Amino acid sequence: MARVEIAAIEDAARRIAGHVRRTPTVPSSALSELCGVPVHLKLEHWQETGAFKLRGATNAVLSLDGPERERGVVAASTGNHGRALAHAAKKAGARCVVCLSNLVPANKREAITALGAELRVVGRSQDDAQVEVDRLARDEGMVPLPPFDHPAIIAGQGTIGLEIVEDVPEVETVLVPLSGGGLIAGIAAAVKAKRPRARVIGVSMQRGAAMQASLAAGRPVEVEELPSLADSLGGGIGPDNRFTFAMTRDLVDEVVLLSEAEIAAGIRHAYFAEREIVEGAAAVGIAALLAGKVDASGPTVALLSGRNIAMDLHARVVAGANGLEDAA
Ligand SMILES: *Cc1c(COP(=O)(O)O)cnc(C)c1O
Repeated sequence: MARVEIAAIEDAARRIAGHVRRTPTVPSSALSELCGVPVHLKLEHWQETGAFKLRGATNAVLSLDGPERERGVVAASTGNHGRALAHAAKKAGARCVVCLSNLVPANKREAITALGAELRVVGRSQDDAQVEVDRLARDEGMVPLPPFDHPAIIAGQGTIGLEIVEDVPEVETVLVPLSGGGLIAGIAAAVKAKRPRARVIGVSMQRGAAMQASLAAGRPVEVEELPSLADSLGGGIGPDNRFTFAMTRDLVDEVVLLSEAEIAAGIRHAYFAEREIVEGAAAVGIAALLAGKVDASGPTVALLSGRNIAMDLHARVVAGANGLEDAA
């Protein structure tokens, strides 16, 4: 089976050191008291570009050989991965093209060009944008770097797992936001290699949990994509998934699903009790603890994965809104 091993994650850690932030892990007295076990927060939302995706993107870009770097990298993401890839490519002096559809609003387009990436605007959907990615790879030899299902991306995200074990050697439970599974596959590979008895738990939103549905079906399946406070957790895992489905199935102990109101409560707890601004996707570990949906039986680490939330939405959630409709 195709799987990313600990050696590749340790290589990634050496490769990206000095290029990404080494984020801290801090105790949460509020959550420790609530759960009756020591709870720590891994503050990865402090990562440059505002999300952990810079680790995978940096590892992938720095792994290119000279001619590949010359031809450049291409992706179809307008979210945290697109931002991270643009940033990593610029720092490495590599060309970066981000393909997107006509539906992507102007402010998101400008954010990508501001990071030094070129834009290709094609068609009316993410699928149309992906067709352009495939064409640029075929015709111009550009290197496609997808957001999760790629060994160098998984290895880069896995470096978070090494840091968690370094900072909390006694860790027994790790809570990880889960969408396409690049993050949890890398972290689980690292944590299980170092602490075989520690549990790694994925947390997704009930609205469109593609990995959970795929695990239940025993193969990658599509789910309807619905608007969620945890927008960075939306999207499928890909019908031809090569790495993250199998790694999640084999390495992850449990997947927990949350309602929008539970995610909102997680954002509020992060803000009021921890004084951290996080996006919905990053609040799910805290939210799962607050909702009593995980059995925190020993020292626990919840990963805060990003902070790229529209601040007007954040303000409305902090003021009590329990979902997107509620905040509208
Ligand atoms: C991408 C992302 C995730 C999920 O990562 P996957 O590798 O797709 O599972 C979680 N949180 C944030 C902030 C993200 O940007």
